[in-house]
Amino acid sequence: MRWIKKTTIQYAFLVLIVIVTTPAVSAGVVVHSQAEYGKAVKQAQPGDTIVLANGEWKDFEIVFTGEGKADRPITLTVQDKGKVVISGRSNLRLAGQHLVVSGLVFKNGYTPTGEVISFRRNKEDLAYHSRVTEVVIDSYNNPERTETDYWVIMYGRNNRFDHNHLVGKNNKGVTMAVRLDSEASQQNHHRIDHNYFGYRPNLGSNGGETLRIGTSHYSLTDSYTVVENNFFERCNGEVEIISNKSGRNVYRGNVFLESRGTLTLRHGNDNLVENNVFFGNGVDHTGGIRLINKRQTIRNNYMQGLTGHRFASALTVMNGVPDSPINRYHQVEDSVIENNTVIDSLHIEMAAGSDEERSAVPKNTVFRNNLIYNRDGASIITVHDDISGIDFEGNVLNAVETPAIDRGFSSRRVELQKLPTGLMRPVDPDLAGVGASVDLAVLDRASTGVDWYPKPDNRPRFGSGKTTRIEPARDALYEAVKAAAAGDVIELAGGDYLVEKFIEVHVPLTVRAADDSNRPHIEFERSALFEIKDGGSLKLEGLRISGKSAPDNAGNAMIRTSRYSMLNAYDLLVEDCDVVDLDVNHSFNFLEVAKSTLADRIEIRNSRFRNISGAILELDKETDDLGLYNAEYVTIERSEFEDIGEALAVLYRGGTDESTFGPHFDVRQSKLQNVGKSKRNKSGASVSLLGVQLADIHDVEFIESAPLRVTLTVGGPITRVTNNTFKATPAPEIRNGEAVLSDNTVSP
Ligand code: CA
Repeated sequence: MRWIKKTTIQYAFLVLIVIVTTPAVSAGVVVHSQAEYGKAVKQAQPGDTIVLANGEWKDFEIVFTGEGKADRPITLTVQDKGKVVISGRSNLRLAGQHLVVSGLVFKNGYTPTGEVISFRRNKEDLAYHSRVTEVVIDSYNNPERTETDYWVIMYGRNNRFDHNHLVGKNNKGVTMAVRLDSEASQQNHHRIDHNYFGYRPNLGSNGGETLRIGTSHYSLTDSYTVVENNFFERCNGEVEIISNKSGRNVYRGNVFLESRGTLTLRHGNDNLVENNVFFGNGVDHTGGIRLINKRQTIRNNYMQGLTGHRFASALTVMNGVPDSPINRYHQVEDSVIENNTVIDSLHIEMAAGSDEERSAVPKNTVFRNNLIYNRDGASIITVHDDISGIDFEGNVLNAVETPAIDRGFSSRRVELQKLPTGLMRPVDPDLAGVGASVDLAVLDRASTGVDWYPKPDNRPRFGSGKTTRIEPARDALYEAVKAAAAGDVIELAGGDYLVEKFIEVHVPLTVRAADDSNRPHIEFERSALFEIKDGGSLKLEGLRISGKSAPDNAGNAMIRTSRYSMLNAYDLLVEDCDVVDLDVNHSFNFLEVAKSTLADRIEIRNSRFRNISGAILELDKETDDLGLYNAEYVTIERSEFEDIGEALAVLYRGGTDESTFGPHFDVRQSKLQNVGKSKRNKSGASVSLLGVQLADIHDVEFIESAPLRVTLTVGGPITRVTNNTFKATPAPEIRNGEAVLSDNTVSP
């Protein structure tokens, strides 16, 4: 709309610029059907433009081929940006020379093939000197979360992918990849710039990278891809935000905002990582750069507020495998890490991943003139192995009393000032050569992607909508949930509610007592009260729920997930609730989940559970041992569980893959009495954790209950069992690893 306000002179000037800078093109032929498009593309000559008419194009597999010229490309665009939607089972394949595609929006569907946009028509016909710009791909996901596809794959050479908007990749598979799988795609000199890579939720397994360049197989081949001025926001798919797997790539001027994981130089040599900015804002598992391989340069990057540890630290220098196979870890050699600034971050790790296999320590590497500042003087560097192969020079720490590395670091009190860019620099002119330079720019989010399609807002899941109050009446709760929109709150007046139908939850929803002193009482007549469907989340507050009216079936559940794969992780929050008498038959669970579902958060606080024949949280449906699991964060606080036949929690994450941060399990200030002793309790435990990455069991009373069992597997898991009482309960069983066990009491 800014156009309207411009004066005629300004407008004329803009038109002039357009005329001068755009090569002569015909106005374009507008096509209205797939048949018309097919005809137009066959006839297209250099300089021609094909325009898709406004509207929805369903099930459209676009094959865009042609031979344009450098000064007269063949263009595929849209009548009005934002008004052409490609939906259903659609995709785009480009092949030829000097092609340009712009303005498409892919949504409401998914690709029938392995990718949404491919820079090739088939293995023989690739794209060269071609460009995809101002294209949107929004939540264009295969409904089966574990089914793999890619949104963009670049093949060929000298192609550009710029100013695109990619948001909501929820199913497995890299969001965008550059392939080097034939000679025609190597030394490709592609440019990937000014793209907006928006929210990508935690996948809960490997295969959630946002960008990957190369594969281990071709990793010793040079790619020469430039990744410049892109904005990565909440790209949380897995431990690698970017997985570099080829040589001579450049990562420059990108911003990583609240993204879990790191820019990982996983395979390939001679890469350059410079002028990038990482803002973690204290979000869990946010990291910076992870270094592996030879002749890599990491310079003039800025990291702030990063919390990640181990492979997701602000800076991680890995150990390698001696004579490593191509798909494992090559030793760090001849690399340079200089003039980086790390502020208020929690971890830097040297010789990380050191173990029996990864025993080749870094060599001939320089770490110099880096600034590491924590306002409280915390020492954040951890050294896992011999680092005599790293030459440390001129690094500065803020007020660290005992630096972890005694050479090449000076510790002093550093005063910082905020630059106009928002970045921090030392005030002291003596430190001018330390840390990232004063003129490091921060990419503006608005300059990435497109300006005609909104970037997502990050409003909270719960409580951001309207509040509806209901009274006890037939179908009242059912109807209110059915009518609810995302973020709505349903308040229940005191009284008895009998629910006769399954209540399907399709959006984030809060159901709570209107009045704490007159709390509603809910019973239900079907085999479940709530069913959380894909996109749904549930928060329960102040309710009393009984299973007394449930049918006399084995295997009821108070809450269950969709029985099918859910693309969206859900939250289940239970606050100040009483759940009783889930016991009309055996194996009546509080929560029943299905395979291919992932809870982002399950939180139970200030609640009481009594007389339940099944389990409270049975999160063990991912039994393929592929590194998948059913819940990322499980938190139980100030709650009581009494007479529970099966386990309070079973959380299972099998396999040896190291790509995930979770699951996390935390139970504290709670009480278990007679939990887990039913003969149907397959785990034989009151709490059974396998492959959990971070487990905290603190200040919990276990009385006359089955044992607490923790089985450690891969990934450097941390388990703390502290300050608990085990009364007439076996001592905790820690299997296959070490846990912190302290101040526990075991008594008869
Ligand atoms: Ca990965």
